[in-house]
Amino acid sequence: MAIDAPPLPPLSALSLDELRGWMTVRGHPSYRARQVWRHLARGAAFEEMSDLPLELRSQLAASFRPRSLVEVARVEADGGATTKLLYRLDGEATVESVIMRYPRRTSLCISSQVGCPIRCPFCATGQGPFGRNLRPEEIVDQAFDAARRLAAEGRRLSHVVFMGMGEPLANYEAVLRAVRRLVDPLGPGISPRRITVSTSGLVPRIRRLAGEGLPLTLAVSLHAARDELRDVLVPINRRYPLRELVAAADAFAERTGRRVSYEWVLLAGVNDTERDAEELGRLLRGRLAHVNLIPFNPVPDAPFREPAPREVRRFTARLRARGLEVTVRDTRGREGEAACGQLRARTLVDGDEARGLPMRSEVAHTR
Ligand code: SF4
Repeated sequence: MAIDAPPLPPLSALSLDELRGWMTVRGHPSYRARQVWRHLARGAAFEEMSDLPLELRSQLAASFRPRSLVEVARVEADGGATTKLLYRLDGEATVESVIMRYPRRTSLCISSQVGCPIRCPFCATGQGPFGRNLRPEEIVDQAFDAARRLAAEGRRLSHVVFMGMGEPLANYEAVLRAVRRLVDPLGPGISPRRITVSTSGLVPRIRRLAGEGLPLTLAVSLHAARDELRDVLVPINRRYPLRELVAAADAFAERTGRRVSYEWVLLAGVNDTERDAEELGRLLRGRLAHVNLIPFNPVPDAPFREPAPREVRRFTARLRARGLEVTVRDTRGREGEAACGQLRARTLVDGDEARGLPMRSEVAHTR
């Protein structure tokens, strides 16, 4: 019986230093490493690295595959302004990312884990089994692939949000390595301010992130302003209760000078009442904070409902009356940009891809 050869390692897994070492051993000048590094950030295939000698391109192709992931499905939405992509990783796991095009910016929502171990009850990702952490190259390759698509449209990737599948801070080292690569001026060169890292509230990691010297945007998935309710909606709260979470977010804001975004998925009758507005107002009043409300987008089997538009308006007004800065995510954002946990990729059944059927993912909502 023939045994398949293991796949070549992805070139995107090498650091710039490792790439330089690889060049040197093969007698190529080290500046070639920088050229390849730039090509990778544009998502270029080996044959598109046309400023490299043919021999070098052949050597690269014989030793590596360019990327760590393969597109297996794509869905266009919002009249082409939104593109959802399903990728297969080594080991057959799949993850999703979402490109969102706006008049003056282009944003990419990326995944950091296969599934999520936090298991928020309103979230589609949290309902499936947890798979594994993504490797740094599996995270940045989502961005590199988006950059390639966007360049073909004359667009540039300007913003990245870690709000796809997974809890980014539970995969801290890989996410940080990916972030450092995304901000690298020799690579995509995205401003750290335009990179948002979301978290369900891993307090020690928020504190550690604050000390990384990166003015990132932190998005805290709050959803409740009393422990009793948050213990249920975001189970990690039992370990890191609200008082500790908000203190860590304050420390982040102080160290980075960046306003913290608090995400709040509105669940009808659960966290959209006068009492919730009062508790949230009390919790965030006077803080360097912003509240992002996301009306719940129903998930199969979840025991929650979406609030009526007038209830969303009422809750928004209640928060503003308490002095909070509030935005309500629009439908498109809800579909494509909601904070982590919005997406759940299921395994494609045989033939879906070939028939061009929509990927079997579901928009849940945000944590
Ligand atoms: S909302 Fe976020 S933290 Fe909660 S289960 Fe979903 S992906 Fe995980």
